[in-house]
This record gives sequence, structure tokens and C-alpha cells, in this order.
Amino acid sequence: MRDRYQVVIVGAGPSAIFAALTLMKGNVKNIAIFEKGKDIHNRKRGRAMDLLCGWGGAGAFSDGKLTLSTKVGGFLSDFIPQTELTTLLKKADETYLSFGAPKEIHGKSSDKTEALYHEAKLAGLEFIPMEIRHLGTENCVSLLTNIRTTVDKKMEVFFETPVKEILVDGTKTKGILLENGIEVNAEYVICGPGRVGAGWIKNEVQRLGIPSISSPVDIGVRVEAPASVLQTLTDLAYEAKFIYYSKTFDEKVRTFCMNPFGEVVTETIEEIVTVNGHSYAEKKTENTNFAILVSSTFTEPFNDPIGYGKYIARLANLLGNGVIVQRLGDFLDGRRSTPDRITRCMTQPTLPSATPGDLSFVLPYRHLKSIVEMLEALKPMMTVESRTPWILSTHAPLQPAPSLAEAASLEDYFLGGRKIPWWALGISGMASFLDITGTVLIVSFLYILGPRGLFIEFRGGAVLVLAIYLLWCNNHTYQGFQYRRAPDQGGLPGTDHSPQRRGRNPHTGHQHLGQGRDDQT
Ligand SMILES: Cc1cc2nc3c(=O)[nH]c(=O)nc-3n(C[C@H](O)[C@H](O)[C@H](O)COP(=O)(O)OP(=O)(O)OC[C@H]3O[C@@H](n4cnc5c(N)ncnc54)[C@H](O)[C@@H]3O)c2cc1C
Repeated sequence: MRDRYQVVIVGAGPSAIFAALTLMKGNVKNIAIFEKGKDIHNRKRGRAMDLLCGWGGAGAFSDGKLTLSTKVGGFLSDFIPQTELTTLLKKADETYLSFGAPKEIHGKSSDKTEALYHEAKLAGLEFIPMEIRHLGTENCVSLLTNIRTTVDKKMEVFFETPVKEILVDGTKTKGILLENGIEVNAEYVICGPGRVGAGWIKNEVQRLGIPSISSPVDIGVRVEAPASVLQTLTDLAYEAKFIYYSKTFDEKVRTFCMNPFGEVVTETIEEIVTVNGHSYAEKKTENTNFAILVSSTFTEPFNDPIGYGKYIARLANLLGNGVIVQRLGDFLDGRRSTPDRITRCMTQPTLPSATPGDLSFVLPYRHLKSIVEMLEALKPMMTVESRTPWILSTHAPLQPAPSLAEAASLEDYFLGGRKIPWWALGISGMASFLDITGTVLIVSFLYILGPRGLFIEFRGGAVLVLAIYLLWCNNHTYQGFQYRRAPDQGGLPGTDHSPQRRGRNPHTGHQHLGQGRDDQT
């Protein structure tokens, strides 16, 4: 280690690496990077600390989705003029390409993206068309290794060396103090501590009296659905970005980090477990996942959005002993998901360790309401409408984990969303039997009695039999009651009533139509 560096950089994530590469191009000598994690070849994705810390930061095992648009990815345009930002974005992309990023670009503008844009407008959503270069999780590491090899001889990189403080002399920086007590002198200090270092930099900024502004905190859920449901969108846009303003709370809600055929993974920061998602370039799962996030900006007196996010994340961890997963249908029905219900869900979570639970114990009402409203608005954008089962999981970049899935549609289809009275359902069920029975009876009466038979049939068949069926017949009217009560995934068509398929209630002998609500909590 030298006595003095021109520039020291805290952290070795993408921001720090790009700062270092830019300084190198500008012929700045004596650069040192101090990183609390390990070098890229020593990082193991399965180890919590290694997932986010080390060479490549949180980007090392990320999806490696490079969004080539200035419209997403924070609020840099508040600080840098648009044209300059576009130039910087282009340079960053060229740098990735020079280190081996794939040449293919997804989401190029076309008539179809234009059509989607207008369709989204009609649904009250803003669709943000953008181009994406997808590295894929497995390629991130090799690309970062290429960069590491390139910078190796040109700057010093210290791993497993956490920085404790930024040192100042009056109003000027003079270096850094390491956790091990060593002081490092430097003319300039650049900090890129990322999300794992958010608490550290917040404390440092406060300690040094540097003015700062709070960013909005994003809290939400990660949604999982069969990849085919979203394939129209993902084939077209790869990462479909939608923005929505919720009706009830007028809050900004957005889709974030869509991972076609990807998987949901846990992310641990300061012992808080949250979720994130990624997809591999080659390996594919059956699901696509994305986050729906609600952005909240706090005003005075509260000024700790990160603390708020962590609080919610901790609550989820407390209740779910980690990540919570809930089917949308269970969530909408106001009941928790159970392992059994998750097993029966058509969408199987790619994060099997998540605990089936109830998100309404975790997320504030305004967040849940805004999320459900956005999901409703998104329905017309999906290949298959609401009948498709979903798995959603709470997601928040600073915080915890998972939730919901959909099952409401069968109810809508067979039960009219349980809003139709029992007698109407009874008539409806009966009508399907009346058709062929009536035809047989009419033909028989006509054959036996001639035209007089028609009168008998209408008087007896259409009025009397209908009334008898409606009031007493177990197979029809009672079925109406049963349909209304059928608690789980809605009623079933007549063919599904067969005991072979659904079984009978051992106590009453009645046909079993679905699982009761006794297992709710
Ligand atoms: C699973 C996953 C998937 C993602 N997918 C994408 C994606 O597809 N596209 C995308 O654009 N983004 C994605 N992201 C987000 C992306 O990884 C981050 O935006 C990016 O890594 C931020 O870069 P950074 O340099 O600011 O911070 P980080 O990457 O977080 O790096 C900060 C580094 O600083 C180190 N550090 C912190 N404090 C100290 C200290 N006091 N002393 C020494 N070192 C310290 C940390 O150990 C860490 O290595 C994903 C993230 C995850 C976790």
C-alpha cells in the first residue's frame, strides 16, 4: 500500500469499476479500490455476504440486464442534462461490449411496441419502450473477470478491507480510515457503496454535515406467473416497463426487473432477507417474474425511508421466518396461503424456501391496494386473462419478500364471482340438464298424445318440474347453494362433480367441491 493515492474508491461494484475505468482512460495514476467483499473468483453466490459484496458488487450475480434508456434506472436526469446522459449511456454500453457483452439487443422499437404503447394508454398505464442488452447471470461473472484482469496491473485493489470513515481536513477530503485502523491518504475519495453500504454512507454524510436528500422508498411484491402468460410482452419488450398511478392513493406504481423464464432469489442485507429476480441466458425456468413497486416519498418530520423499508422487511421475516409467498387468489379472498394451496397452484414458485403466508399482515393497506389496482390494469396486457394463476412475492429493493397468486377466475366463470344469488345459480345448473331431458319428454308426449302432448309438457315440464327442481332437488338447487359455498377455486362444471375426481364428504356424503376455509388463519 502506498503512502498516498491520487484517488481512493470505496466499493468495487459497477459504479466503482466504471469510475476506475474512466479515471484510467483519463490517465489518472495512483488509484486504489477498497472493497469489503472478496475478489470475483473467490465469491460464492450461495453465501449471503458474497451475493452482494466483492468485485462486481451486487451486479456480479445479477441478471445483467443493461437498460439502454435514460428514462429508467433512477433519477440521473435530475442532475445531468439529457444529451450528456445519452452520451454516457452509450459509452457505458460500449465498455460492456468491449469486455464481451453479447451483441444482441432486445426490445427494439417496432409497430408492435407502438401498438402496445397505445393499448397500455387505454388501460391507464404508461408503457416505456426501451432497448435492452441482456448479459445473463452466468455471463456477468466472466465479463467482470475480464475487467478485473484488465485493471489488475493498473491500480491497486484491496479486498476484505472495509472502510470505516471518510477523513476530512476542514472542508477537504484527506483520505479514508479502514476498519483495521489504517489511515489511507488520498487527494480524492469516491464512494460507491451500493445498497449494502447505504446505512454506512448515510451515517458518514450525517457525521460530516453534508447536505443530502432522501430518495423515495420502493416497496412491493415480486410476481411470478407462467412464462407463457407474459410471453407476448417479454418477446416484444423483454423487460416490459409500465408505470401506473393508483386510483385510490394516486401513488406511482411500476413494474420493475422483469425476468423472462427466470427465477426468484433471496437477497440478504444486514440479516434481512428480501427477494430479487434474474434469468440465465441459457437455462430457462417455466416462470417469468417481475416486481411491482410502490414508490413513497416521506416529508418531515420523518426522514428515514431506508429505515421504513427495513422495518417492513423485518416484519415479513418475523412472520414468515424469511420470505413469505402467497397466491393472489388467497390474498384477494383474505386468507393465508398454505403449503397445500401453493402445491395446488398452477404456478409453482421458483423459490421453494419461501413460507406460505399472508401478506396483508406485512404490507400497509395503501401498498396492497395500489398493487392490486395495477395488476387489474395490467390484465389486458397479458396473453391469458385473469384465469391464469399467479404467484406474487413481496419485493422491495431495500427490504423483504413475497406474496400472492390468482385463482379468482374460476369463480368468475362458474359462480359469477359469487355475486349471483343461490337460486339463479340453481336455475343455471338445472338448465344444463333441462335441455336434453326436455327434448326427450317433448318427443315422447308428441308420440303418445299427439299435439295435446305439447300442452302437458309445457304445463308440467317447464313450470312444475322447474319449481320442484328449484326448491328441493338436491342435484340442482342444492347445487346452487353448494356452488356459492365452494370456497377454494370456485365451483366446478358438472363433469367435475364425479366422486372419482373430487371425492365425497365422509360425514354428509355430499359431493366435495373444494377445500373448506377451516385452515385459514
Ligand atoms: C439479484 C439481482 C439482480 C439484479 N439485476 C439487475 C439487472 O438486471 N440490471 C441492472 O441494471 N441492475 C440489476 N441489479 C442491480 C444492480 O446490481 C445494482 O444496481 C448495481 O450493482 C449497483 O452498483 P453499485 O456499484 O452502486 O453498488 P453495488 O453493486 O452494491 O456495490 C457496492 C460495493 O461496495 C462495497 N462496500 C459497501 N460499503 C463498503 C465499505 N464501507 N467498505 C468497503 N466496501 C464497501 C460492497 O461490498 C459492494 O461490493 C440487480 C441486483 C441484484 C441483487
